[in-house]
Amino acid sequence: MPFLFALFQTTSVRIAVRAEVVIVCSLGILALVVLSAMSWSAGVMAWLVLLAYVTLRPPNERSGLDISKPGAMRTDFREAERQALVTAIPDPAWTLDRSGLVRQANAPARGIFASLRTGIHVSSVVRSPELIEAIERAFSTGAIQQAMLHERVPIERRLAVTVAPLPTAEGQDRVPALLITLRDLTEQDRLAQMRADFVANASHELRTPLASLRGFVETLQGPARNDAVARERFLGIMSKQAERMTRLIDDLLSLSRIEMRQHLAPATTVDLVEIAQLSVQALEPQASTAKSELRFTADEAKLLVRGDRDELLQVLQNLIQNAIKYGREGGHVDVRIKRREAVAGKPSRIEITVGDDGPGIAAEHIPRLTERFYRVNAPESRDKGGTGLGLAIVKHIVSRHAGELLITSKVGQGSTFTVVFDELAAVNKK
Ligand code: ADP
Repeated sequence: MPFLFALFQTTSVRIAVRAEVVIVCSLGILALVVLSAMSWSAGVMAWLVLLAYVTLRPPNERSGLDISKPGAMRTDFREAERQALVTAIPDPAWTLDRSGLVRQANAPARGIFASLRTGIHVSSVVRSPELIEAIERAFSTGAIQQAMLHERVPIERRLAVTVAPLPTAEGQDRVPALLITLRDLTEQDRLAQMRADFVANASHELRTPLASLRGFVETLQGPARNDAVARERFLGIMSKQAERMTRLIDDLLSLSRIEMRQHLAPATTVDLVEIAQLSVQALEPQASTAKSELRFTADEAKLLVRGDRDELLQVLQNLIQNAIKYGREGGHVDVRIKRREAVAGKPSRIEITVGDDGPGIAAEHIPRLTERFYRVNAPESRDKGGTGLGLAIVKHIVSRHAGELLITSKVGQGSTFTVVFDELAAVNKK
């Protein structure tokens, strides 16, 4: 079976390479049969001879990629050494012999190309004409070649390919094989796109209040110069816009500080009951302005975690502030903190929930709420002093504390934001 498969591959590759010759000659034979006295059986014979010639004739040596001997294996550079080399490369890599057959391939390469295996022809693995040309050039010139590969399935990827000729044995002048290595640029592209989107969004958020400030300054310098009533009103609006810019810059700085420390686990011990209580107290005035009842329940007097006090205060304040902002006017906000007992060898956990009885959030928005600048209703968020960064900050802080953030909501009934952290083991408590 492998022999038949290799024969089929070689035959089909040769026919594909000489497709133009096959088409022109077939048309010529057909014309002879139809227009002249040539019989149909003679025509079929002539066509079979043509196919045999195309598949059996070795390709031109100068073309570099030799597909004439699919099974041929050179020993210029020992196979075991090549295998060790390919396996040691962390990026996807494989080698090709002059027949265009894969000789060695490492696991990352097999992870990207499901059909990649020893003995298969390169054209069955990658169909990119750019890469096939680079392979031919590397064989014929003996120089390293570069190519770009765009894969669409199973996922869209962009890969930079290097095709490097392997050393030629003494007394030989032909390149015996090629080492093909790939660098996956997909993640790099995604991060670059994310950075570009972030800068565009941040600039847009800053530019809007800035444009409004400039407009009011011009009005105050011009038409409203002597209008005391307008001046008072405009200064009030200007002060609100300046506050909005300050909040945005504070949140941007917070996010960047948290991102920088993302991989450093917090080292201090903090009491989450105290932090939740302080946050509730700090936001009571805001709740009473919004005619919202802010309630706090703690099952224990003290619940300790390893944490950063300022960051955890920020988590609680952002969640409570959102519940007040987006909750129902005249409604209530419930902050509860409790211990979840240890289960199946896992440590006991501390759960804090912030629930409101507001209009809730439609299910399709929930997975995106922690993206930077994602809002369900952008004008409403801006109107209420939102920056669109609060939940992104919460997510980063919770992940730095190896905790979890869960969001549940029912439209028309309210939303619940829950954060869960491992409780500091009793033995470590001070
Ligand atoms: P913002 O500064 O806009 O409040 P956040 O990141 O804190 O930004 O929240 C993102 C969006 O999530 C908000 O704009 C709002 O649409 C929605 N949201 C957050 N909390 C609630 C809540 N308790 N009820 C309803 N919607 C909420």
